[in-house]
Amino acid sequence: MSDFQADEITVIEERFEDLLNYYKRVNPKGNYPIVQKAFQVAYQAHDGMRRRSGEPYILHPIAVAEIVAKEIGLGATSISSSLLHDVVEDTEYTIEEMEQLFNSKIASIVDGLTKISGATTLKSDSIQAENFRKLLLTMSDDIRVILIKIADRLHNMRTLDSMPPHKQYKIAAETLFVYAPLCHRLGLYNIKSELEDLAFKYEHPATYADLASKISHSAEERDQLFLRFIKPIEERLKILDFNFEIKKRIKSVYSIWKKMQQKNIPFEEVYDLMATRVVFEPKSYLDEKVQCWNIYSAITGIYRPKPDRIRDWISVPKANGYEALHMTVMGPQGRWFEVQIRSQRMDEVAEKGYAAHWKYKAGPESSETELERWLKTIRELLETPESNAIEFMNDFKLNLFSQEIMVFTPKGEMKVLPQGATALDFAFEIHTELGMQCIGAKVNHNLVPLSHNLKSGDQVEIITSSKQKPQEEWLDFVTTARAKSKIKAIFRNERKKVVQRGEKILEEKLKKLKLTINARILNKLQAHFKVENRDELMYNIGRGSAEVKDIQDILRDKSPRKIVKYWRLQFGNKKNKPVPEKKTESQPTGKRKSVEITDDKSDIDYTVATCCNPIPGDDVIGYIDDNENMVLHKRQCEKAIKLMSSYGNQIVDATWISHKLHSFLSIIQINGIDKQGMLNQISKIISEDQDVNMREVHFNSHDGVFEGVIHLYVHNLEDINNLIFKIVKIKGITNVQRVEKSKL
Ligand code: MN
Repeated sequence: MSDFQADEITVIEERFEDLLNYYKRVNPKGNYPIVQKAFQVAYQAHDGMRRRSGEPYILHPIAVAEIVAKEIGLGATSISSSLLHDVVEDTEYTIEEMEQLFNSKIASIVDGLTKISGATTLKSDSIQAENFRKLLLTMSDDIRVILIKIADRLHNMRTLDSMPPHKQYKIAAETLFVYAPLCHRLGLYNIKSELEDLAFKYEHPATYADLASKISHSAEERDQLFLRFIKPIEERLKILDFNFEIKKRIKSVYSIWKKMQQKNIPFEEVYDLMATRVVFEPKSYLDEKVQCWNIYSAITGIYRPKPDRIRDWISVPKANGYEALHMTVMGPQGRWFEVQIRSQRMDEVAEKGYAAHWKYKAGPESSETELERWLKTIRELLETPESNAIEFMNDFKLNLFSQEIMVFTPKGEMKVLPQGATALDFAFEIHTELGMQCIGAKVNHNLVPLSHNLKSGDQVEIITSSKQKPQEEWLDFVTTARAKSKIKAIFRNERKKVVQRGEKILEEKLKKLKLTINARILNKLQAHFKVENRDELMYNIGRGSAEVKDIQDILRDKSPRKIVKYWRLQFGNKKNKPVPEKKTESQPTGKRKSVEITDDKSDIDYTVATCCNPIPGDDVIGYIDDNENMVLHKRQCEKAIKLMSSYGNQIVDATWISHKLHSFLSIIQINGIDKQGMLNQISKIISEDQDVNMREVHFNSHDGVFEGVIHLYVHNLEDINNLIFKIVKIKGITNVQRVEKSKL
């Protein structure tokens, strides 16, 4: 080991010892073994890693832990989490190991920090910034995640010099935009002004340097003036038997600059450059507030107060709990001085950002009322002497902005969704196409259904399939307006396409009979298929539930309508919809029975009629033959109609449900213009469709047109309809339809 390395180790160990000793001193009963263990794990995990500045990486987590302990005043859990905050992100360690090595609390804090850091790709627009601010407040159910993140940012800002300039700008802007307002809101005033100053320094280096030098040049004069100013005050307060301290505080460079900008004045005219703070130990027999006012009148006995510059935060503390009495008086050389009067307790409240001091300023957002309620709760708890801030925070669950959740894409991009949003909402939020083909999702790497409710902080990956189509029941579990309107639009479009297809099929059929669509024909067809209007008729023809193969018979009114009517012929298959359970025993009304059949043949023995080759999803009836065997026919099958008219008591109403366990024969007929490669295109579509299997293909072509008949095995009506839609899209195809074997 070189001397250099040995020196480094000494530095690291000393830094940590210093931190540990500090913690032991302020919290003698604290859990320091866990802090030691956290250090050991982090030290070993980051071994060999260096920061951009060249120093060993471990010095960064130590520095963050120091800020957390000394400047924010948090305890062992937070200090340990700070030491471990980059371990999961940058090394081989997992959250699970954090839990095993430490506890679930530390693991969940480290998890929150890792997620936030994945989401810090801040875009320049303010909407994203506001979202990010909310994110910091919502996604961690433990407020310590945010506090540690702030400490992390503070240390990164303190060491920003080692970053390349373009990154400095970005980080500085983000700090000013996101972290400073957050600190303000949380009452971390000191950290807030340090962050602002550091950010300002990198954003406006020249202005910063100029102001900083003006401040330091005027320091000596200011110090002398300060001493002259406070001397009579000190004397008077001693006479009044106060135990006190008078401190001076120089405004931050950034806030001086802001004042110059706002009031459009030069540096020299910023009169409240310096504030004088009188911090006293209250006398036990007198109310703190009364003592503040006593000091106030003591000072007004020496200097003339500016009447409009009294700020009484004692009678009515600020919303975040800040208490103090502010006054401005005319001091030596006719200069104005601001004086802040505070008890020691008030001073600590103002200086250290415990939960007491969550800063908050009313904004236009509606969710702010919740924040107010939350702040009120914190204050109530803090006013109870038994509860201490740290203990309180350990159990604290943050539920701000509960109307919204923030979730992430696998790339760490954040999306804001309403509370109750599902994986499907998320898919539509990203892209309509993604929503339409969504079949499921992985939330935090676990497979979940589309209807899964998302939580803040979830990482969501959408799983798609090109075979997926939007389902009507999707409307039951999407909550965003965007997803709802997209799904509805898709159904409208789908229907339109089917209607158009229906028109085309009917036109073709009529053309062969040298007829065109007219009112008489429409009336006949509507009556025959029992539909209300033209649109519905075309829709049923288009999707194949109203077959117009025997259109001549229908038009001549030779259809077996009267018989069929008795059987409540129903068109419009209820495919895809869960069928309500039907009882298998005889129904009390008449001879008609209804039976539910599934393709796993579990309960009922059945065979499929070869004349009409029904498949699950078709409107079917069952004929019980002499051997007690059930034969399934399409309801419109000619043979079935004959059977119904003769053996009505042997017919049962059937609902055929597919679990996609078995495949059934189905035949399609394709007509089109004979083009090169057509056959190839068709067979490609069929072979790529995983739901269908090709058995036989027959193709004939003559005079530039072709006719194809394909025998397929499919699970159900949906499979075959999907396939028909795909084939009909091929250029040159004029007609695709299901045919019955008996009619070939
Ligand atoms: Mn870090």
